[in-house]
Amino acid sequence: MTQTKDITILGAGVCGLYAAISALRRGASVTVIEKNDFPGGLAAGFKRGGNFFDQGVHMLHATDPEIYADIAGLMGDERIPVNLDARIHWNNRSYRYPLKGLDLLAGMNPFQLGRCVLGLVIADLQNRLNHTQAAAISAEDALIATYGDPLYEFFFKDFTHRYWNIPPSQLSAEFVRRKMPRLNVLDLVKKCLPKLPGGRSADLVVAGATTDETLHYSKTGSETLPRVLANEVEKLGGKIIYGSDILEITPTEIRSLDSSIRFHNLLSTIPLPVLIRLSSAAPPAVLDAAKELKFKPIVTHGLLVRKNKCLEGLYTYYRNRIFHRVGEPGNAGLEVNPADHSVLIIEMTCDRDDAKWNDDPAIRKRVLEDLTAEGICLPEEIIEWHHFTNPHGYPIYQLHFEKHLATVQQWLDQQKHVVSTGRQGAFTFPGMHNAMRMGQVAVDLILSQS
Ligand SMILES: Cc1cc2nc3c(=O)[nH]c(=O)nc-3n(C[C@H](O)[C@H](O)[C@H](O)COP(=O)(O)OP(=O)(O)OC[C@H]3O[C@@H](n4cnc5c(N)ncnc54)[C@H](O)[C@@H]3O)c2cc1C
Repeated sequence: MTQTKDITILGAGVCGLYAAISALRRGASVTVIEKNDFPGGLAAGFKRGGNFFDQGVHMLHATDPEIYADIAGLMGDERIPVNLDARIHWNNRSYRYPLKGLDLLAGMNPFQLGRCVLGLVIADLQNRLNHTQAAAISAEDALIATYGDPLYEFFFKDFTHRYWNIPPSQLSAEFVRRKMPRLNVLDLVKKCLPKLPGGRSADLVVAGATTDETLHYSKTGSETLPRVLANEVEKLGGKIIYGSDILEITPTEIRSLDSSIRFHNLLSTIPLPVLIRLSSAAPPAVLDAAKELKFKPIVTHGLLVRKNKCLEGLYTYYRNRIFHRVGEPGNAGLEVNPADHSVLIIEMTCDRDDAKWNDDPAIRKRVLEDLTAEGICLPEEIIEWHHFTNPHGYPIYQLHFEKHLATVQQWLDQQKHVVSTGRQGAFTFPGMHNAMRMGQVAVDLILSQS
């Protein structure tokens, strides 16, 4: 007689929820344990007053066809396809994203442009000859090896420092390899070409930062995806325990203040250092290594504005404002109440308990000044202001983090029946589709073990 496998999943973000669905579909029994009293983790959205506010605008990519088809089925007619149409404000100009070659040519002073293109060409040649990208150790080395010195100084250096509050020389090259869009000379040249005969656009043959894409959203914003995933988990017979405060994880039990749950297979999607801190069996060297794996928190300001359109496109990235990105999800189909108003989602990185995290009035003042300066909206047009925080926005790839991650992973590999995955659990930067795929792969691994 075959026995039903049971899988206990920590975290009801999209990774944990999709893992739960995958496991249930394969006949396993599933319990999901979530600290918050809502699903979605980083991709959650919140209803405040009459409107939904994303915690950082979240749209689904269709780049994993199987995951996309599955999610499209689950979202049904709530899914709204939308063209990726973003902007980058840089040097007093607005550039379309995905990058358009002609925009770049028109937007830069010819001397600067010449230096940057020459820098890109030299970096490209050096990389082909000496594999400089692969050899880079710090993010500074990797950015120069990828984009060339002039573009690094002009575009990346200060912004990267401000974003992480860490100079690029103190970040690992791995961050650039995993997180930054690929942009090479060939991409740019192809981008500047006219449409090819036969209707095939040059856009189709380039990759990374220049690729046109359709994203998927909904009229209630990012809350939809976690909601439909959580509903599916429960429909398939899985159990989700919300508001759980885990005190300790032993090799066989998860102990909270008021309960303890025995497990046979544990799939963790919670932040890796939290998993290690809670694990009673983790030795001191592993605990010490886990403490070196840190996250950059994020703050999101959700505004309701008395103005029916504030931005061109879905969102705009800024290099020298207090915020890094402002999104206007109404431009992607979010239903806004009243209909002639707009919802703005303003994103910034911060440090735990700093003025941004604590919603200090001085920060709101800076936000207002920058919104006004960018012509997005005026202070008197703002009629609601909501503040959201998440301590685990981005894993920080600090210089030499790799050795700490390896120490933790080696120990985890020895723990039979425990798998740590997802954005937080693998300490990496996936999009939602990748995080869901990671959940499914982890379930396959668990179910393949006898
Ligand atoms: C600003 C921003 C914008 C983004 N936009 C997009 C986008 O447009 N498209 C896209 O594809 N991706 C986007 N991403 C990436 C996306 O958010 C992630 O890929 C995805 O949400 C990761 O899901 P996850 O389940 O792996 O992690 P999480 O969502 O972080 O889930 C982890 C879960 O574990 C829970 N947890 C933590 N500690 C405990 C504990 N002790 N006990 C129990 N539970 C615990 C958390 O509450 C959370 O629910 C964006 C990310 C950011 C930061």
